[in-house]
Amino acid sequence: MEEKAAEVSSLFTRLDAEIAAFQGWSGLHCQWGCGKCCFKPDIEATILEFIPFALHLKKEKKAEDWLERLKKSDASVCLILNPTQGGAGMCSQYQHRGLICRLFGYSARTNKYGQKEIITCQIIKTEQETSFMEAQQSLNSGRTIPGMSDYYMQLRGIDFELTKEVYPINLAIRKAIETVLQYYAYRDEVL
Ligand code: SF4
Repeated sequence: MEEKAAEVSSLFTRLDAEIAAFQGWSGLHCQWGCGKCCFKPDIEATILEFIPFALHLKKEKKAEDWLERLKKSDASVCLILNPTQGGAGMCSQYQHRGLICRLFGYSARTNKYGQKEIITCQIIKTEQETSFMEAQQSLNSGRTIPGMSDYYMQLRGIDFELTKEVYPINLAIRKAIETVLQYYAYRDEVL
């Protein structure tokens, strides 16, 4: 499980570097303290992308508490979100956020005409319109940014079973914690 989590974390590290490069040449950036995209009620994720978070909770001896919180909650908005948190954003576990959290805002998809489109929020599209349009044009003339489906393919390459389905984000987090707890329940590996 540690190895699997390490593979996911190194995929995240590669992606974060690509996103930083994209932000560097495009100038696109999140508004300080924003977090609006995290309030979307229909965010979906795979189990695997939250295995590093689940393992972190296990090491911190907080996995069972989080599992209880997730089981009791019927919230559709991510439970990791902390709306009262100050600072750059509202994610209370930013280091352990999922793949979808990293990709949204700074990745591309291919539309039905075969053209690359930047996947980002209305705030960036409207308040950074010039930079957004210039970045979109750069994409059409061959510049590359992270591809959403490409990164999910890479994630799938790490573990097919834990990526074959997407779940509402809180359920994906819950299943990741259950997967980690179950794994260690049958092993006397001490974390
Ligand atoms: S894990 Fe963090 S970044 Fe992802 S949706 Fe939840 S609060 Fe937002």
